[in-house]
Amino acid sequence: MNKKGHVLNAILLSIGLGYVLEPSGDVATFEKIAQISVPIVLGALFPDVDTAFGKHRKTLHNLAVLGIVAAYPLVFNNLHFVWIGVVTHYILDLMGSKRGIALFYPWDKEFALPIGVATSSKYADLVTVIITAFEVAAFAAVHFYVVSLDINVAALAAAFGFGV
Ligand SMILES: [Zn+2]
Repeated sequence: MNKKGHVLNAILLSIGLGYVLEPSGDVATFEKIAQISVPIVLGALFPDVDTAFGKHRKTLHNLAVLGIVAAYPLVFNNLHFVWIGVVTHYILDLMGSKRGIALFYPWDKEFALPIGVATSSKYADLVTVIITAFEVAAFAAVHFYVVSLDINVAALAAAFGFGV
């Protein structure tokens, strides 16, 4: 997926997640969207840095990178919500385009789902919107039934005895 697709995906996902985390629809919802949108957009842009540094769709498109980004809130108490942008970038590359990504890099094999459309397709934006809707539903399910996405990670890290 191209940069426009990733930004569109991240903005729509931020709005959807804003309503999931603060469903009131008033100021609290818009504050939540403001809080999470820039980190999610930044996270969604990050993996394609490997077009300039490393191998594209490999060096920054794998689960180890996701794990490192996701650990930052716990270890350093910063980069909250950026991991969601990285996740959504991977999902969009897996689902929204023909080529896959090397999820287990340095193993070079690229994984893809057989349902993608070419990034240049006129349907690319529509596919992005549909994928985003599924992502909002999936994150909402995790948030309501598994673990809150809006926990105080600093307190959590302290409870487990790490963090700086
Ligand atoms: Zn990518």
